[in-house]
This record gives sequence, structure tokens and C-alpha cells, in this order.
Amino acid sequence: MNRLRHILPGLLLLMVSVTGHAALQIVTTTQDLAALAEAVGGDYVKVQSLTPGTRDPHFAAAKPSMIRKVFRADLLLIIGADMEIGWLPPLLQSARNSRVQPGNPGHLDLSGTVPILGKLSGPVSRALGDVHAKGNPHYWLDPRNGAHMARAIAARLGELDPEHAADYERRFLAFERMLNDKLPGWRAELAHLESKPVIAYHTSFIYLADAFGFRIVDEVEPKPGIAPSAASLSALLTHIKADDIGVLIMEPYYERRSARYLNEQTGIRVAVLPQSVGAQKGIDNYFDLFDAIVAVLNNAEDN
Ligand SMILES: [Zn+2]
Repeated sequence: MNRLRHILPGLLLLMVSVTGHAALQIVTTTQDLAALAEAVGGDYVKVQSLTPGTRDPHFAAAKPSMIRKVFRADLLLIIGADMEIGWLPPLLQSARNSRVQPGNPGHLDLSGTVPILGKLSGPVSRALGDVHAKGNPHYWLDPRNGAHMARAIAARLGELDPEHAADYERRFLAFERMLNDKLPGWRAELAHLESKPVIAYHTSFIYLADAFGFRIVDEVEPKPGIAPSAASLSALLTHIKADDIGVLIMEPYYERRSARYLNEQTGIRVAVLPQSVGAQKGIDNYFDLFDAIVAVLNNAEDN
């Protein structure tokens, strides 16, 4: 017995390191993708996100630690639709890992798994701002899309690791069931926003609006990625007053001065929404994200 007590911790360590080795290494560009990969991958995967949910995912600086992660990855999950266009291509090049290059099984662009909104027709010019010709990439903010994304991740994991394909499928189905259970509650809590006009800071919430039935009628940014000017803010003031717009929603990482000014001038309520898993303490998975968004939107309404 005494000897067993000495051996047991060693055995446990060995087991942990063996399963650790077998785990598929998944690298994601955002924490939302990491949360979905963890939900369907469970103990068979090890997931790391290249960016934290506290930061604007349009921008990232390629650090050596990020290159190392991509170098070791078996599977790379990306938002796509040009979300990471400014920082991922050089990172992929530096990491020299053919498994995760576009077109290979270790590369999964989730934008191909959901209905993309806001696709532009006609020629795209930089004069329109930081626009994405491939459509709006903020699609993870519709919980229905979360199910599409999780299904695609589970299917790809099953291809890369056929031994556990049935487990991935089972975990996906459990995730989807939970999402379907929670969606009516979120909708009921946000019913007061139904058909209401709302202003967003950036064009990031069209999927959220689509999922919960409110309308985004204007943005604080005069063009995507372009900071507001005195002239654009004054035009916005007129719009808010004319249409009696009650709520402004924005991500935590944008400047607050413009929103404060609009609030002072019109009384518009400002809801700073966590836009990603990891954006705030306590948002550790995809369900937490929508719980938090619903809570913030309801508080904004009560003020
Ligand atoms: Zn954007």
C-alpha cells in the first residue's frame, strides 16, 4: 500500500502526458473559435487562441509565440471573410507548417459554413473604408451560426482523428441541444428590442440584430474602420433625434468619447457589449457570451 502511494502519482502523471501527446493541437484566430473547438473536442484536443477576446480581432501583431503555436498546430480554425487579412497571412508564411495552409485538411475557414451577410455588390474601393468584399465577418454573434460552426469543426475533427469521430459528433449534438434550449430564453429577454432601431459603433452587430430582431440603422464609424469626425457625429445626432433611437451598442475596445458625447446630447443609452468569449471575466464559453450580451442589453434598456 505504501509503495502504491508512491507509484500512483507517477502513474497519473504518465497517463496525463500520454493523453496530452495524443491530443490534436488546435490553434484558432479568436477565442470564440477556441470555445467552440473545446466544446466539441473535449479531452481529445488541446486548443489555443492566437488573440485574446479583449482585443479587436481585425488587428494583431505576429509575435514569435504565435508563430510557434501555428508551427505545432494540427488544425487551424479561422473566422475568414478577410477578418484576419491584416495579420494571418504573414504568420502562416513564417510558421512553415504545411498541415494548416489553406486548402489542406488542417485549415478550416468557418466563414464557409454560415450564411454571410453584408456582401457588397459592385467594385470595392478603399474609399468605402476598411470594408470586406467577402461580406461581414462578425458572424459568430448569431447563436444559430455557432451551431453551424460547431458542426463543421466536429466533422473536421472526425476526419483528422477518425478514432474519435463518434465522440465529436456526440459532443456537437449536445452543444447544439444546449444552444437550442437557451435561444428561446435569450429571445424572450430581448423581446423589448424587437424591430427597434439601434446604432452600432462598428458594423459588427448585424448578425446579432438578425438573430434577435432589432435593426441597426446607423454606425458611429462613418465608414468601417474609420474614426468618427465632428461632422459625422453631428449628422448622427440629427439621425438619433429624428428617429428617436434609444440604444447605441459598441465593443469594449473602441474609444468611448463619441458615445459619451452622443449620450450627453441625446440621452441615447450606451451598451458596451462583450463581443467575444474572453472579452470579460466570466465569459468562458459560447453560452456565457450570449448570457452576458443579453444582460448588458437589458441593463442598457432599464437605465
Ligand atoms: Zn469588422
